[in-house]
Amino acid sequence: MDLKLSARELAWQRRARDFAETWLFPHEVELEHEGRLPSSLLRRQRSAVVKAGLNGVNHAVEHGGQGCTLLEQTLINEQLGKATGALWAVVWHPADPLKHGTKAQIRDYLIPSCQGRRRGSFAITESGAGSDPRMVKTRADLKRGKYRLSGEKWFVTSGDCSDYLIVHAHVDGDPDKPTLFLVDKNLPGVRIKRVPKFMHTYVYEHPEFVFDRVELDAGKVLGGVGQGFELTKDWFVEARLQIAANCVGAAARAAEVANDYAAGRVQFDRPIRDFQAVEFMIADMAVEIMAAKSMVYRVAAEIDAGLDRKLVHARASAVKLYASEMAGRVVDKALQILGGRGYMRENPVERLYRDVRVDRIWEGTSEIQRAVIGGQIKKRGLAIYTGWM
Ligand SMILES: Cc1cc2nc3c(=O)[nH]c(=O)nc-3n(C[C@H](O)[C@H](O)[C@H](O)COP(=O)(O)OP(=O)(O)OC[C@H]3O[C@@H](n4cnc5c(N)ncnc54)[C@H](O)[C@@H]3O)c2cc1C
Repeated sequence: MDLKLSARELAWQRRARDFAETWLFPHEVELEHEGRLPSSLLRRQRSAVVKAGLNGVNHAVEHGGQGCTLLEQTLINEQLGKATGALWAVVWHPADPLKHGTKAQIRDYLIPSCQGRRRGSFAITESGAGSDPRMVKTRADLKRGKYRLSGEKWFVTSGDCSDYLIVHAHVDGDPDKPTLFLVDKNLPGVRIKRVPKFMHTYVYEHPEFVFDRVELDAGKVLGGVGQGFELTKDWFVEARLQIAANCVGAAARAAEVANDYAAGRVQFDRPIRDFQAVEFMIADMAVEIMAAKSMVYRVAAEIDAGLDRKLVHARASAVKLYASEMAGRVVDKALQILGGRGYMRENPVERLYRDVRVDRIWEGTSEIQRAVIGGQIKKRGLAIYTGWM
């Protein structure tokens, strides 16, 4: 078993680390204090992403992306995930389902998104539809060859800076026809209803959108009528691995800050790391990060190597569940080691504490991941997790 990273993988890791150090970390405190970054800076960051070749890492070269493997993406996302304020979102990932688009959709949406000329957001969740997207009320009624889209979507991440949305709706209100639509934000009938504030400071916003009889032609259906869940399910694998990698990065940064602090902070005439209570916390943090990292790298590499599709979903849920819960535990310990300083917003650990909480909620809550894992065990046996295959 060769566990060494290749020269190419190490180069991607380095590139992402350099980008985070140059373009993300220096702006964290400003973002935290001001609540947003100036638009001129966001534009410069976008150009820097392209210059660094980190645009569209999750898409094929012929679609304007970088053609990175999942393991390479994991290494990149881990480095970016160290940034607070979700500044990792500055490096956009065009949604995976776009690759299933028609030639025209790839030309008009995917390629410009990979190149940084367009940006999209994913809109599934509604006030009555969260973990159970079958409850979606947004509908697209087909009349004389045109769809009319009506409904409301919640928590549309980066919806403020996107110029189009991928909207999950039921054709003719039929839950058996869950379908994705490409909706340009400047169309009549599309508007932002509210921009709520959240626990984390996020570099963009998560607005709520209203669609009031938005007229769409058939060319805006992505991947076919009734294909909504299939396309989203595939995308969840990538998104869950991305979250897991971000979480490993966030936990590693918190642990580094706490470890350095514990070495320098003197109380009762000795560095606090010499108290076993503190040393044990550092030990637990290190082991947890090691375990999560091993899992995320392993699953990414297995998927790259052609893992059976059924196992891909099963494993992606396990990775997301473990890494997100691990990050919560590790960042909490790091904050404890920092004492009162860990509670200050100017400290990255305080920000990470708030940042990683959502990782147990979005892209499927921890309970939903456990339900997926439990269901997979019932169907395929415990060995798909506990064995080595
Ligand atoms: C900051 C943020 C950004 C987001 N960005 C996006 C986005 O860009 N696009 C988008 O579409 N959505 C987005 N979401 C929505 C997110 O995916 C949902 O919040 C998530 O899927 C959970 O749905 P819910 O909040 O409605 O909770 P609910 O589904 O109402 O769940 C509430 C509680 O019940 C539990 N529960 C529900 N069903 C079960 C079950 N079967 N078994 C056990 N427990 C269960 C849940 O685990 C949870 O603890 C975002 C959310 C947040 C907070």
